[in-house]
Amino acid sequence: MFSFIRKFFENRRKRAAERDRLCQDLLHRVSKALSDYIGVDKDNKECIQKWRGDNGNLLSELSNIRRFKWSSFYGTLKQQKEKFDEFYRRSYERIQSIYARERQKQEESKLVSKMLKQLVSKQKDQKFKVIESKDLNRKLGVLTSHCDDVIPFDENCPCCGKDGRKKTLYSTEAEALIVAEQCSKERGYPLRVYPCPYGGGFHITSNPN
Ligand SMILES: [Zn+2]
Repeated sequence: MFSFIRKFFENRRKRAAERDRLCQDLLHRVSKALSDYIGVDKDNKECIQKWRGDNGNLLSELSNIRRFKWSSFYGTLKQQKEKFDEFYRRSYERIQSIYARERQKQEESKLVSKMLKQLVSKQKDQKFKVIESKDLNRKLGVLTSHCDDVIPFDENCPCCGKDGRKKTLYSTEAEALIVAEQCSKERGYPLRVYPCPYGGGFHITSNPN
């Protein structure tokens, strides 16, 4: 009888130790996910997406932490879970807002491209000199703000600049020439137009080769 009771308590102690071990392990992984999130580039949707992908399993694991209710680490785990849930929710909102910004930029770029095409068709058969009119300068002001922009018109063009960002793809050489001329005036060094090696448009570069 005495040995039966002893065994009972021994088993209970073992189960408690095992529960603590599992709880601590989970706690360790949550803490790592939280510190990883601090290091994520908040303006890079691929980066955020990766963090979400890496921690998707953890999210579902944390949805049921009641099983650790009797562990001595439960309080800490619960706090960390709340932080994690908050980060996970915020990461989703971040991605959505990046997409919205990109869509907006894309729309603006398309508009500028359309304006340029109209301009180019007016200037047909001339050398593409920039007309000194207020209206045009204003349009070009908008345009040059997109000179280094991240939005390509063609998803198939993977070309990136020195900074690693996607290059703007101009659908006609004339557009690219106008932008290049305006940008090099502003920056004080020459820019060159070249056809995208993947076809379908033109890029601008400061690389002389
Ligand atoms: Zn390209």
